[in-house]
Amino acid sequence: MDKYKPLIDNFGRQIKYLRISVTDRCNLRCVYCMPENGVTPLSHDEVISYEDILRLVNILSKHGVNKIRVTGGEPLVRKGMTGLIKNISGIKGIKDISMTTNGVLLEKYALELYNIGLRRINISLDSLNEEKFFRITRTGSLKDVLSGIKLVKKKGFNPIKINTVLIRGINDDEIIDFVNFAKEFGLNLRFIEYMPIGGNIAEAVSSKETIEKIKSKFTDFGPVSAGKTTAYDGVSRSFGFKDGKAVIGFISPLSEHFCGDCNRLRLTASGNLRPCLFYDNEYNIKNILKENNDDDEVFEKISDIIKLKLFKHNFDMKTNNRECLSWANDFMNGIGG
Ligand code: SAM
Ligand code: SF4
Repeated sequence: MDKYKPLIDNFGRQIKYLRISVTDRCNLRCVYCMPENGVTPLSHDEVISYEDILRLVNILSKHGVNKIRVTGGEPLVRKGMTGLIKNISGIKGIKDISMTTNGVLLEKYALELYNIGLRRINISLDSLNEEKFFRITRTGSLKDVLSGIKLVKKKGFNPIKINTVLIRGINDDEIIDFVNFAKEFGLNLRFIEYMPIGGNIAEAVSSKETIEKIKSKFTDFGPVSAGKTTAYDGVSRSFGFKDGKAVIGFISPLSEHFCGDCNRLRLTASGNLRPCLFYDNEYNIKNILKENNDDDEVFEKISDIIKLKLFKHNFDMKTNNRECLSWANDFMNGIGG
């Protein structure tokens, strides 16, 4: 078998990006991500082991996967996290490793993460108001996250991206505050459309609406261009200001889905491969790894799974078509976002 056969789905999309949810556990309970009382966490035996993660990344890296994101749950609550990141970084073929965190434990781990070579970090932050932060996360303190952001900035992590999920009636009144915050600290802020996965707690705010709101306040706000078109940073459309003080990105999975260019595969905390965020179709890779000592056979099985990746999700914000969402019952903490 050709060792370097790329992983290509039925629509010609090459899979190059693996998002790994390393744990379903979290020290927060964000209203859009987890039920109030949490979920029964996976037991030690149920959660995917570091050995399996490393073997999987090793196999995929030989077939063109070069970008990894570690997410969760909250990745920093899993013991030995920094060791895992270090080991993944050492795998030949992995060019880009990053982590998405809620930032609560950054004061404790930033130095260690920096020392093992992690530089790319996304920090989720949905309110700049202590009371509202608590209402959204149902626990946790805004101060911890802000200290974490300042610390990673000081240490020299780069890029640092702040992820803000906008939820109507909850934090959409803070759009301008967030923009000012990004300008003050020179941050790359990304507004994400709320996705009604695992339930439906509120209405999303479309990127278009958010852009209009910012434009009404900042007349020099506009798309960052890449030649004749708007610049994209992954799935995020980049906007900025004349003073260049901040980049504001828009991630629009609902209003302008980017399925046509999807190059992603997800590994859930329970050890399933999930080809699409919006569909609960998952395939147990833990068993495949256990039952096959030969990496080429594992790759063939993953290739078969990738052939089941759908072309696009069917949720339509305009018509409110929720056909696919009846399938998306899993909560985001186990999938990784
Ligand atoms: N605990 C980490 C954090 O919060 O950054 C990593 C896991 S979290 C599931 C990953 C990302 O998914 C976060 O940026 C979070 O805001 C986003 N997310 C979770 N539920 C979401 C939802 N229903 N709609 C849009 N984004 C969501
Ligand atoms: Fe935890 Fe992140 Fe989900 Fe919030 S979004 S509950 S921090 S996993």
